[in-house]
Formats: sequence, C-alpha cells, structure tokens
Amino acid sequence: MKIQVKENNYTIDIVYKCEEKIKNFLNKNRDSKYLVITDENVYNLYSERLKNIMYGLNFYIFKFPAGEKSKSMENYININKFLLENNFNRGDIIIAFGGGVVGDISGFVAATYLRGIDFIAMPTTLLSMIDSSVGGKNGINFMNLKNQIGSFYFPKYVYIDYSFLETLDDRNINNGLAEIFKYSVLKDKNLFYYLKSCNKLDYKKIIYESLNIKLDFVKEDERDKGKRQKLNLGHTIGHGIESLSNYKLNHGESIGIGTIYMARAAYKMGIAKSDFSKELILAFKNHNLPTSYDFDTDEILEILKHDKKINKNLINVILPIKIGEVINKKVTFDELREIVELGKGNE
Ligand code: NAD
Ligand code: ZN
Repeated sequence: MKIQVKENNYTIDIVYKCEEKIKNFLNKNRDSKYLVITDENVYNLYSERLKNIMYGLNFYIFKFPAGEKSKSMENYININKFLLENNFNRGDIIIAFGGGVVGDISGFVAATYLRGIDFIAMPTTLLSMIDSSVGGKNGINFMNLKNQIGSFYFPKYVYIDYSFLETLDDRNINNGLAEIFKYSVLKDKNLFYYLKSCNKLDYKKIIYESLNIKLDFVKEDERDKGKRQKLNLGHTIGHGIESLSNYKLNHGESIGIGTIYMARAAYKMGIAKSDFSKELILAFKNHNLPTSYDFDTDEILEILKHDKKINKNLINVILPIKIGEVINKKVTFDELREIVELGKGNE
C-alpha cells in the first residue's frame, strides 16, 4: 500500500517485509553517504535486516540507549559531532530507524545540520508508524520540558514495514492503539466499530486508515494553528494523568482515558447526544486498555496550568459530539475544572 503526500512531496510505503521498496529508494542516491540513527534495542533486534537493507551503500550507524532520556540536547550534540567528524554534507542522508524517540531526534538533526539535509523514516513501533513519522514535527526535550526545542521538517520517504511489530511488546502496541482509537473518534466511526469488535488487529488496514486521518488534519494546518489541534483529543487530561501516574501509565494509556473522560463530559454538558463513553470503555476493555484513573482534580489542574497550549488564559479543549466528529472549544481554567469533574469516573 502506498500513500502519496502531495503537499510535502513524499511517499509512504506500508509493506510486510518488502525490503526491495526501500532498497530501490536508497539506490537512487548511491553516491550519498547515509547515517542510520537507531536505539540499542532496535539495533540488537534488527542489525542483520538493517545490513541487508543498506547492502552496497556507503553507510554509518549511530546508536544510543533506548528511551525518552535519549531525546536530549546532549545526544543531539553527539549526533551532530558524528556527522561533522565523518564529513557529512548537504547531499548526504539520515535514516531514522526506530520508534518515536529515534524519529524525533533524527528529524531535528536532519532539519538543522547544514540548515537541513534529507531524511528517511523507518518507524518500528506502532505509535511511530501511525503518528510521529508523519506530520513533520520533530524535536528534543530540554530543561525537563517535553519537545521544548524542535522544528517542522518533512521526510523524503517513509518506509513502514509492519513486520517489525512482531517483536514489540503488548504495552507498546497499546500505546499506538490508543492513538488509533483517538483517530477513529475524530473522524471514522467504521474504524471505531472495527477496533471495538476485532480480536486480531489487521495492521495494514489500521496503519493505512490512521495515516489518512492524521494527514487530513495536518495538511490544512501544518503549523498547528487550527484544525490540527483536534489531534489533541484526550491529550490535555491525558498529559495530566500520565504525569500524575509518574509515567506508570504510558502516553497511549493516558490519552485513551482522557478520550473517555472527554466523551463523558461532552454528554453531561449536552454537547454530545449520547454517552458513548460507555461504548469506548467496552472497546478499550476488548484490547486490555485501561479505562479510568483516579485523581484529585486540584492536583491535575496544577499540572495542566503549565500546558503549552494555554494562550491568553484560555485553553483549547476538544470535545467529541459523536463517534467520528469533534468540536474545538476555548475554555477558561474554571470551565476546564468543570469539564474534568464531569469527565472523571469509572462507570
Ligand atoms: P520509543 O521510541 O521509546 O520506543 C518504545 C520502546 O520500544 C523502546 O524501548 C524501543 O527501543 C522499543 N522498540 C522500538 N521498536 C521496536 C520493535 N520493533 N520491537 C521491539 N522493541 C522496539 O517510543 P515510541 O512510543 O515509539 O515514541 C514515543 C516518542 O514519540 C515520544 O518522545 C513522543 O514525544 C514522540 N512523538 C512524536 C510525535 C510527533 O509528531 N513528532 C507524535 C507522537 C509521539
Ligand atoms: Zn499522543
């Protein structure tokens, strides 16, 4: 399967072990040097497949410890040093081979080294396949703040090989799956009912449909000023829950609960005609996703005060009105408190 992103001039291939596709792409630039950036887990699992893909090309590998801590300024500097010491120039190419951490830092290096060199994304987690590898956002964490420094920069090619998911653990699969549920609530009720009832996920289908939804929200609003903000459904409360749980709940699990709470609040506010949070809960349970988290409203509001999306004391919340449609609403902090109170619960 193929998606052509005309606006930003790149192709996404969704394949199962079809390495000829990426080899053909890379071989168009046989004279370039390649830097493959990856983390140690991915490298240990897939070094042989990587070497097969890169066979015959002039390539280097830069690997770092897996995990969010590697999305750092220090690591960004180390990668830039490596590029400089190995005389990488404008015609050379970066390949991001890994999950969202690898993708985010690699994209940022590519965007800034020599004011921008080409990069290719080869995502290996479900989350990176359906979210971070497209949409152009990249960056690093700084002074304990997530994604504080970064840019908008698009890949030249995205190779999604869902055979890589065969080694991914269930919680990391669920991390991506919760975002796919979010996409379905935003725009696609058929996808929602498919997810709700299916037992074995058809990755090709859900990756393809998710990317089309994400790209649709991104294309009219690359810089995240309007329509793209709807992709933040569940994320305001979700970020608070993630942080309150001390990151015991992962991002997907937290924003999934956030999505349920927003659906419940929307119904209680009279914005949604029915309380489809109940349906979300059944669907989440089918995939072993958590459906509630107990917290103190004051505590979560304290965290939400530092949300990057607050502008002139107003915070943007996304409320679902039915499965497949959401609205954008700017609320004051007091109104947010009310929404959080209405959304909380575990029925
Ligand atoms: P991650 O990159 O840390 O990967 C999760 C874990 O899975 C790591 O331990 C990794 O080594 C391991 N792993 C990766 N591929 C594997 C495979 N095929 N088999 C077995 N293990 C594998 O995390 P993630 O969830 O992919 O991404 C999270 C990051 O993405 C966060 O930093 C987040 O901010 C960022 N993100 C960015 C965007 C964007 O638009 N740029 C969107 C969403 C998330
Ligand atoms: Zn998210």
